[in-house]
Amino acid sequence: MPFRVEPGKPVHVAIIGAGFTGSLCAVHLLRRLPPGSRVSLIDRTGRFGPGLAYGTSNAAHLLNVRAANMSAFPDVPGDFVLWLWRRDLPGLGHADIPPSGHAFVPRGVYGRYVAETLSEARVAAATRGVRLDLLGQDVTDLWESEAGARLLFAEGGELEADAVVLCVGNFPPELPVADGSACDGPRVIRDPWDQPALDRIGADDPVIVIGTGLTMADMLLALDGRGHRGPVTALSRRGLLPAEHAQTVPGRMDLDAAPRTALGLLRWVRGAIRDGQPWRAVIDALRPATAAIWRDLPPVERRRFLRHARPYWEVHRHRLAPEVAARIAAARGSGRLTVRAGRIQALHADARGVRLTVRDRAGGVGRLDADWLINCSGPQADYARVRDPLVRRLLDRGIVHPDPLGLGLEVDGNLALVGAAGPSRRLFALGPPTKGAFWEITAVPDIRTQVAEFAAWLAGQP
Ligand SMILES: Cc1cc2nc3c(=O)[nH]c(=O)nc-3n(C[C@H](O)[C@H](O)[C@H](O)COP(=O)(O)OP(=O)(O)OC[C@H]3O[C@@H](n4cnc5c(N)ncnc54)[C@H](O)[C@@H]3O)c2cc1C
Repeated sequence: MPFRVEPGKPVHVAIIGAGFTGSLCAVHLLRRLPPGSRVSLIDRTGRFGPGLAYGTSNAAHLLNVRAANMSAFPDVPGDFVLWLWRRDLPGLGHADIPPSGHAFVPRGVYGRYVAETLSEARVAAATRGVRLDLLGQDVTDLWESEAGARLLFAEGGELEADAVVLCVGNFPPELPVADGSACDGPRVIRDPWDQPALDRIGADDPVIVIGTGLTMADMLLALDGRGHRGPVTALSRRGLLPAEHAQTVPGRMDLDAAPRTALGLLRWVRGAIRDGQPWRAVIDALRPATAAIWRDLPPVERRRFLRHARPYWEVHRHRLAPEVAARIAAARGSGRLTVRAGRIQALHADARGVRLTVRDRAGGVGRLDADWLINCSGPQADYARVRDPLVRRLLDRGIVHPDPLGLGLEVDGNLALVGAAGPSRRLFALGPPTKGAFWEITAVPDIRTQVAEFAAWLAGQP
């Protein structure tokens, strides 16, 4: 039987990771746990709320979801817009954010919203005798026993808890290079969020960006913000750029009639567009049912979807704020940004720069040289290849398994982590590590629902 809170019995829940997912999990548990309970929210960065996505101080880094859809609470859809109106920040006040919430605000502002939501929940919970401890620690191992769970910190301390929730988010990307080329060197920036590494790029240095998605767009804006003027070449297998947001409302799809094959789904979506619905409305209409559609697809069809449709799904589903799309278009128009389609055959890097051999989709082979390479190929979701010490130890001891599609960790229907001995009683995961089970568990509107439902379940409430 999985661990669940018994009515009135105080518990201690430890949450590893204090980005959006872990912080929101803490907020819900603080509201729901019985008096005398404790929540320990642990993050190695010592920051609580913003996480990787919303910790940027670059005002050009905008949310890629309109403010109307960014409430932290599925049952209070206007919460973020109301927060913006109350704070009345310059350029983001009542006069600037329309009641429709169709506005794309800086991600750093959203980080403030999450942090404040957490602080308010902490104060309110204290009046009920429920405590939140914020621990700036790196968890390097954990064990589960009949009586509870024990966490080990890099600095040496330990913590005991009744249940542990892994909210560890995304891991840095791996370079998509298979031939054992010399991929390391001072000119290869493997982690796009490594700020000091970006600072080393000279104003006129040519740069290659691996990946043409949202992170590539972020990188271009980050380089602009540092005064970079040199040429940027963005490379991905298909050279597809994310589409742009437009004001739209979800369309009408009979979600119960969703086909159970990848090809069937593609035809179903295309059919709705052919029948006159705007493509954005069709994609948005699928949102509430995406996890259920994914769950109902047989494994072979999930694989087929990943192999053939994934890149097209990503660029239509995860779109660019119009302001960002305009800057990308301007950079392409001026020749500063070139987008190329091709597969990396070889990568050689040394102290002076990087050289890529690229095979294009027609089979031609060409060379790309630059002073720097930034890897924006998307987070490493294949846990078999994740190097993080905690993840490695849990995998090595069979406490967790990578999910069969290489998208995250295997979880059961209660979000309990599944290892060699079956589902854990006390270890759970939320957010991006559960992508294998949910598929769309990347953005706030999906994560907030998962977190709210899980916290209610763990707290023994309907
Ligand atoms: C750049 C970027 C922009 C995005 N923009 C949007 C957007 O505009 N709208 C939207 O809806 N979604 C967006 N997303 C998607 C989504 O909101 C985020 O992925 C989401 O915030 C995930 O949060 P998280 O808490 O699960 O992960 P993270 O934010 O990655 O947080 C995980 C935390 O866990 C900590 N941690 C990990 N391991 C340990 C350990 N062993 N010990 C201690 N601490 C540990 C890390 O330090 C980190 O702070 C964006 C994602 C990214 C990456």
